[in-house]
Amino acid sequence: MTDSLFSDATQRLDTALKYVSISEDAIERLKYPKASLRVSIPVRMDNGDLRIFQGYRVRHDDTRGPTKGGVRYHPNVSLDEVQSLAFWMTFKCAVVGIPFGGAKGGITLNPKELSRLELERLTRGYIDAIADFIGPDVDIPAPDVYTNPTIMGWMMDRYSTIRRQLSPAVVTGKPIALGGSQGRDTATAMGAFYSIQTMMSKFDRRPENTTVAIQGFGNAGSTIAELLFNAGYRVVAVSDSQGAIYSANGLDIPSLRHYREANKGMKAVYCEGSVCNIVEHQTLTNAELLTLDVDILIPAALENQITEDNANDIRAKWIFEVANGPISPAADGILAERDILVFPDILVNAGGVTVSYFEWVQNRTGLYWSLEEVNDRLKVKTVEATEAIWQTSQERSISLRTAAYVRALQRLGESLDAKGTRNYYLNGMGNG
Ligand code: GLU
Repeated sequence: MTDSLFSDATQRLDTALKYVSISEDAIERLKYPKASLRVSIPVRMDNGDLRIFQGYRVRHDDTRGPTKGGVRYHPNVSLDEVQSLAFWMTFKCAVVGIPFGGAKGGITLNPKELSRLELERLTRGYIDAIADFIGPDVDIPAPDVYTNPTIMGWMMDRYSTIRRQLSPAVVTGKPIALGGSQGRDTATAMGAFYSIQTMMSKFDRRPENTTVAIQGFGNAGSTIAELLFNAGYRVVAVSDSQGAIYSANGLDIPSLRHYREANKGMKAVYCEGSVCNIVEHQTLTNAELLTLDVDILIPAALENQITEDNANDIRAKWIFEVANGPISPAADGILAERDILVFPDILVNAGGVTVSYFEWVQNRTGLYWSLEEVNDRLKVKTVEATEAIWQTSQERSISLRTAAYVRALQRLGESLDAKGTRNYYLNGMGNG
C-alpha cells in the first residue's frame, strides 16, 4: 500500500496498459480527477449548537457521459478517498458499458450520532453547497455507504427547490414514490449474484456444496447473503462493524435479517442492532471472518480489508468484491500467486450504478419499468461483462481485474481519442 488510496487506485492503470493500445494522452488524463469540490456545511443541531461538517464531490472523468456515483456518510471520508472512489466509478461505468463517467461524494461524520432531522438538515445543506456542481446532464449522485433512499429523496427535493423545477433525474436511488426505480435497492447485490451464478455454471459448481463468508451486513451485504441463501448456498459467516458470526452448517439469513430489522433501535435512519446479538453461533472478529476456509469470500464493507498483512492467510478459493477497493494492489499480487481468483469491484458491484442508469432513463422518458424488466436488463449487462472479462483473462493470462481494466480502457480510450488526442491529430484526423 502507498500512502495514498488514489495512487493505489491509479496504479491499476499501469498494469492494464501493457495489454491495451491506448494513447499516452488518454492515460495521462485519467490519472487526474477533472474537478474536486470541498465544501463546509453549517448545520443547526437539535440542541441549538452550530456544527460545521466537511463535504466533498469529485468528478473524475466525463468523456463517456455525465459523471455518476454515490455519496457516503462516514467518519473516514477524505478527499483522497472520494477521489479514488470517483476514479473507480469511471471504470465501473465503462466496464458495463453505460454512458456515464465517474464521480463520488462524501461527508465526514458518524451518521449514527445524528438525529433524523439533523441528517435531513445536513443533506439539504450539502446540496445547497454543491448544487452548481451537479445536474441531470452533469453529475448525478446516488446512495453509497450509510446513505439510503430517504436521503436521496431529500437531495432531489432540495435540488428541485433550488432550480425551481422538479428534477428527478438529478439523483438516483430515490424512494419509488419520488421517481425511484424498481429494483434499485437490491441492484448491487443482484448484479453480484448474476456474476457469481455465471461463474458457478462455467465451473459446473453446485450451490449446496458451496460455502460463503460475507464481510458487511449493510444493504449490499445483507441482500447478497439472502439471494445466495435462497439459491441454496451455505452462507456460514456474516459480519457487521461490531464483529462476525459463524456457523459451520450455515446461517439462517432471513431470520438474521429479520432479527436485525426488529432490534435496530432506530437512531436517525440507521439501525444499531448488531449481528453479534444473535445466539447459537460462534463469534469471530471481522479479521477472522476474512481468513475462513470457504469457497467464496465476499468483502462487502470498506476499502483495504485485504492487504499484504493478511493476504497470505486468506483461504477462500474465489473472492467477489462487493465493496469498492477491499483489496490493496500488493495483496492482489499475493492472492494471484496463490491462485485465488479475485472478481473485481468494477465488475461485481456495477449492478448498483447500472440500475441507477435505468432509473435516470426512466426519469427522463417518464416511462417506468417493472421489477422484472429491470432485473432482466441488469442480468443481460452483468452476464455479458462477466463472460467477456473471464474470456479476456483466459486468452491473455491476466488477472480478472486487469482484464476488467482492459475492457474499460478500450472504451475510454476510444472516446478520449475521438475527442482529440496526440494520436488522433497525428493520424490526420484533426484536419477536417
Ligand atoms: N455507490 C454505488 C457504487 O459505488 C452506486 C453509484 C450509483 O448508483 O451512481 O457503485
